[in-house]
Amino acid sequence: MKPQMDATHDDLREWDRTHLWHAFTQMAEYEPFIIDRAHGCTIVDIDGREYLDGVSSLWCNVHGHAHPRIDEAVREQLSRVAHTTLLGASNATTVRLCRRLVEVSPPGLNHVFLSDDGSSAIEVALKMAFQYWQQRADPRPRKHWYVAFGDAYHGDTLGSVSVGGVARFHQMFEPLLFHVARAPLPDTYRLPEGVPADETTSWYLGRLEEILARDHERIAALILEPLVQCAAGIRTHPPGFLRGVRELTRKYDVLFIADEVAVGFGRTGKLFACEQEGVSPDFLCLAKGITGGYLPMSATLTTTEVWNAFLGSYAESKTFFHGHTYGGNPLAAAAALANLDLFEEEETLAKLPEKVDRMRSHLARIAEHPHVGDVRQCGMIGGIELVQDRSTKTPYDMAEQRGMRACVEARRHGVFLRPLGNVIVFMPPLAISLEEIDRLAHTAEQGIAVATA
Ligand SMILES: *Cc1c(COP(=O)(O)O)cnc(C)c1O
Repeated sequence: MKPQMDATHDDLREWDRTHLWHAFTQMAEYEPFIIDRAHGCTIVDIDGREYLDGVSSLWCNVHGHAHPRIDEAVREQLSRVAHTTLLGASNATTVRLCRRLVEVSPPGLNHVFLSDDGSSAIEVALKMAFQYWQQRADPRPRKHWYVAFGDAYHGDTLGSVSVGGVARFHQMFEPLLFHVARAPLPDTYRLPEGVPADETTSWYLGRLEEILARDHERIAALILEPLVQCAAGIRTHPPGFLRGVRELTRKYDVLFIADEVAVGFGRTGKLFACEQEGVSPDFLCLAKGITGGYLPMSATLTTTEVWNAFLGSYAESKTFFHGHTYGGNPLAAAAALANLDLFEEEETLAKLPEKVDRMRSHLARIAEHPHVGDVRQCGMIGGIELVQDRSTKTPYDMAEQRGMRACVEARRHGVFLRPLGNVIVFMPPLAISLEEIDRLAHTAEQGIAVATA
């Protein structure tokens, strides 16, 4: 066997193709694309070619790669300790982070459970919601169903797949999943028949209310990705929908889980999407951007009402018997604290409106393309839906991989993008410059032209 340190680039490509099983990737067709380093919004492959990172290394980078402030925070933590457990013990950096998360999150979320990835943050919320109804002061043990939306994506562990509704990802695992009531996801492009555009919010809330009115005595919790369903294809919700969902869950005594794994940490223009409609959920799930895109970490924040239901003597067995070995890892916590510091020091949110406007004007131009059916945007999140026929909104057959072809073409011209089926996604680091937004949009546009020709 060849020593790994002697590997040529061709060896690396060969080993990448044969040993490394890539996430959400058809390995029979995978073409190695191996990153060596990165700086700012630029990633650099092993051959030294540079690419603008148009998807924040899968929706998690915030202030740019190799930011000296976050690098230094991780190094400083590393000089003290890399990992300690949260099982009956703690460490100062992680405690500081939890206090900080409580300060910056919507009111009422005073308790933080830490895990390693977004899927686990969702699992924790689902399990806590279930256990809450079993053992609170006035128990309601029949409440153990969930409500989720069509085309929802909440992660890849079996609980989060159960609440997920993307057929392409989730159908295979159907026999393994628990029952979930499915409300229709607001669609602002292919409107439900006979519903005027200005009545979409109330129409969709009406469909949801039918489910809650019928089954609320069985429903533990509802889960929603606030404002924009990202993995479903950047599906933006009509105004007032989030607030309406919060009101209905209160009316029917159902816990509200807000999945801000993708939309949290500034993507929508505020630190958290829930703030846009003045909403406080019962559970707030955070991951991707929490460490600025540096290290794996996730958080499930909840209320004192939920926390109190788990208190008692050990013998009462009200403990939350759940945890991950690396949960609350101090290196990740140090990165997460620096990430939040940078929002203040670099006035990240105050600089966004100009960037959001710049992305909007590019999307307006791209929307004119004959094979672009719809463009959607929420803050710094953008989606371009390619269609076979604009007048009938007929989608391209997924097997044609038009979205992927556009992104492959963009990569040839120095922009890294990853599509969602027929939807081209813009989700750059918030630190992106106006000039880089221009380059991102023009290169994507070229890719679209080639892929739809
Ligand atoms: C990415 C994502 C998840 C899953 O997070 P992982 O860290 O990949 O497990 C859950 N919910 C949403 C909305 C996501 O975008």
